[in-house]
Amino acid sequence: MNASHLSRQSREAAISALKRSRQAGGGPTGSEPTGQASAGTHGRPDGEPLDVLVIGGGVTGAGTALDAASRGLRVGLVEAEDWASGTSSRSSKLLHGGLRYLEMLDFALVHEALTERDVLLTRLAPHLVEPIAFLHPLRRPIWDRFYYGTGIALYDLLATLRRMPRVMPWHRHVSRRELHHAFPEFRGDAAVGAIQYWDARVDDARLVTSLVRTAAAQGSHVASRVQVTGLHTDAAGRVDGAMLVDLESGEHFEVRAKQVISATGVWTEATQAMAAPGGLRVLASKGIHVVVPKERLTGERGLILRTAKSVLFVIPWSRYWIIGTTDTPWTEDLHHPVPTAADIDYVLAEANRVLRTPLTREDVVGSYAGLRPLLLPEVKAGTKSAKVSREHTVASPVPGLVSIAGGKLTTYRVMAKDAVDFALGAEAARRPSRTETLRLVGAELRPSVAERLPAGRTMGLRETARFTRDFVTTHGLEDRFTRHLLRRYGNNIAELAQIVAEIPEAARPLGAASAYLRAEIIYAIRAEGALHLDDLMDRRTRIRFEYPNQGLDAVVEIAAIAAQELGWSAEREREEVAAYRAMVIAYAQAITQPDDAAAAKADAHRGDQSQTRVGSTEPGW
Ligand SMILES: Cc1cc2nc3c(=O)[nH]c(=O)nc-3n(C[C@H](O)[C@H](O)[C@H](O)COP(=O)(O)OP(=O)(O)OC[C@H]3O[C@@H](n4cnc5c(N)ncnc54)[C@H](O)[C@@H]3O)c2cc1C
Repeated sequence: MNASHLSRQSREAAISALKRSRQAGGGPTGSEPTGQASAGTHGRPDGEPLDVLVIGGGVTGAGTALDAASRGLRVGLVEAEDWASGTSSRSSKLLHGGLRYLEMLDFALVHEALTERDVLLTRLAPHLVEPIAFLHPLRRPIWDRFYYGTGIALYDLLATLRRMPRVMPWHRHVSRRELHHAFPEFRGDAAVGAIQYWDARVDDARLVTSLVRTAAAQGSHVASRVQVTGLHTDAAGRVDGAMLVDLESGEHFEVRAKQVISATGVWTEATQAMAAPGGLRVLASKGIHVVVPKERLTGERGLILRTAKSVLFVIPWSRYWIIGTTDTPWTEDLHHPVPTAADIDYVLAEANRVLRTPLTREDVVGSYAGLRPLLLPEVKAGTKSAKVSREHTVASPVPGLVSIAGGKLTTYRVMAKDAVDFALGAEAARRPSRTETLRLVGAELRPSVAERLPAGRTMGLRETARFTRDFVTTHGLEDRFTRHLLRRYGNNIAELAQIVAEIPEAARPLGAASAYLRAEIIYAIRAEGALHLDDLMDRRTRIRFEYPNQGLDAVVEIAAIAAQELGWSAEREREEVAAYRAMVIAYAQAITQPDDAAAAKADAHRGDQSQTRVGSTEPGW
């Protein structure tokens, strides 16, 4: 079995390994205080506690597991739902420094995020990350050019003053004429010109899956649909393990670990409460996006528009535009944030302020909502120590438990490093983070490529690009698939080709979602950890928001492929389709509601999918 492959079998093997961490010494009960996580090795005998158990399979938890495993620690990573099913699949999908932090004069934060953006783009995941040009329209000819021009020049400068070479093109001033040429839908009277600058986009859910796979390749035991239901403390009050439930089989088990790291985003307070009353204070703030077809707006460059409270992005993807976002408190069910009719109308109205032909609800093919984990400045009483930055915080509410929360997708690697350093204490200096140079799966250089690269070159995508082009030609696919496959799989395209060699009809595009090949569904199940239909529709592909009716037309074909791969019975296949349909209908109702309470109530009619899944138990959280 390829160590980076996430499959049903690898999940079972990981759960068995996690269970074995409990066996020696009779498990958490009565165990002695273990001290800080320390010098681990992957090869240690079973029965020893893990060095680190990471809770939460979003970008922060996946990054933390990778950071810890690549330092040689013995690591477990568990996620209650699917990988990236929380906030980390519902972001604006930008890797950016954040122009708004410049206005807050937080130069260090912008510098850090811009460096992370460029490390991902050039080294860690060049296949997943794509530079995009943004146009910042200007309303007042002199003042705006001076004010925003200075800010964006500083942004560029911060992406230059550092050890690594500058990678993005410089910003430049754009005339009114060029603005209208680049973005013909831009209304003539809405700007006197613009400034063009560069940031990057990434499929957030794919970034997370790639991190989890890389963590697995580094020896982590990783399992989705495993929920932590309690934390175990020893007689001295130190957290030394966790109680878990496998939501696929319903089986309960325990794990021992020297350190438990919570990377549970908006669920941070609930996780901490399993052990102690202290810790970080985290609120949930909802942000929504709408998706409109590419042909509705012409152009390849994005827009960043000022709104009364923040900014609105109009972000180009190959087949559509993603437009958002909003920022409102969310006090309903944390698992299912939904846009309201008012949210969607707000986003459309803000975009329409600069568009010639206003967007209407009929133009919206899809939408999604996510919850920002917003850190409150104070920590709860009794929290021993905390390291606070404006964006993210690491704290230890009780010995043995470390909480990391806040931050953003772009800076996941720094957050992960901070969390593991904190857990290791003094040991961290002898065992430093290695992730700055550790390529994610799909971006590793094959030895044959690495040998031929000139010193200092980091990309190495050329051979993969040639392979992908050949694959597309050989199978008579449209040219657009070259970019699609290259951007999604990097050098793992060779594994997709193996599937097609084994099952020739897998080279066909899906009937009702023709942007994807049937082989991609098979690969998502064999190597990317998809276990259910919604994993495939929502996160391994993005059919749920890319196609009308949340991709319902494609569901039967995809379910049939999944049934074949996962050995579902006919009844199980029907249940999966019915559960997805129920989710789609409830969501479609929810987004017509005027406010959060009504939308959450309508969305609750989706039913609990876990109850329709064979062998599943009520998550009860
Ligand atoms: C609308 C919006 C737009 C954004 N845009 C950007 C952007 O463009 N660029 C950027 O850099 N950042 C962006 N962000 C921020 C970024 O998306 C988040 O900071 C990041 O995804 C948070 O990741 P996380 O891993 O901390 O949390 P999550 O992704 O929510 O992961 C936490 C996970 O913990 C799991 N979990 C919880 N409790 C348990 C338990 N008991 N047992 C097991 N698992 C558990 C949950 O199921 C969940 O999957 C945006 C955020 C929002 C909301």
